[in-house]
Amino acid sequence: MRVVILGSAAGGGLPQWNCRCPICTLARSEPDRVRPRTQSSIAVSADGSDWLLINASPDIRQQLFDNAQMHPREGLRHSPIRAVLLTNGDVDHVAGLLTLREGQPYALYGTRGILDSVNANRVFDVMAEGVVERQAIGMDEPFEPLPGLTVTLFPVPGKVPLWLEDETMEIGAETETTVGALIEAGGRRLAYIPGCARVTDGLRRRIAGVDALLFDGTVLHDDDMIRAGVGTKTGWRMGHVPMRGENGSIDALAAVEIGHRIFVHINNTNPVLVEGSPERADVEAAGWTVAHDGLNLSL
Ligand SMILES: [Zn+2]
Repeated sequence: MRVVILGSAAGGGLPQWNCRCPICTLARSEPDRVRPRTQSSIAVSADGSDWLLINASPDIRQQLFDNAQMHPREGLRHSPIRAVLLTNGDVDHVAGLLTLREGQPYALYGTRGILDSVNANRVFDVMAEGVVERQAIGMDEPFEPLPGLTVTLFPVPGKVPLWLEDETMEIGAETETTVGALIEAGGRRLAYIPGCARVTDGLRRRIAGVDALLFDGTVLHDDDMIRAGVGTKTGWRMGHVPMRGENGSIDALAAVEIGHRIFVHINNTNPVLVEGSPERADVEAAGWTVAHDGLNLSL
């Protein structure tokens, strides 16, 4: 199985267009200390030729340009991306669908809840009916988006996307609106969980023994955004478990057998983004990799 991390940042990317926080500022002035990163997306392949895109970020056009495996290579119009899977309806995971138009056929997969929110918004009709087939996938129902690649979706504690929040919203609920994906090919297993509000026993059992885990690295501490002075929301309020602190993911996953532990979906306020920082050293000493754009894995 081949995996390419197309975008390793959370919503807004790094630097975020309107942000002058210390980390965004460093990403502009000293890219050796803070590598710029695009918004959350990965691509997975069983054969290195046909690819499943998981989540379509607003930066998709740049991501496909930056990674040669994703370039068209046959005839006049072609894409190695044969299928797209959405793990939630966040803007940073669905806005890129607007770029994947121009009459290119592919299959679009997601849970009924996620596809309903896409279907309800007519701007997504740019993915023409009859060209892009939208297919709802049930929880715990393995499906094969590409030959030789099997995906199973499972609910993880989360919340609805910010743009769908209302007074009935429940944080930490396990619903179809935030899911993880277990991907299998050639006897290797990858777990992809870019958004997760809490590590539960069920989640630990689910991912035990995987060859690689790509996990929600939005915040280091629950109050990152408040510490950085850029917001009032905690990680919990945004549906993201912190890396460190009470119930932090590093400790909560420490006893689980996992091949590679990799943080993705990293918010631009997270100090682990600074090369050589004590925070980066701490998570690396705990056995975790902080993903950067273009990171390739062969499992
Ligand atoms: Zn920033």
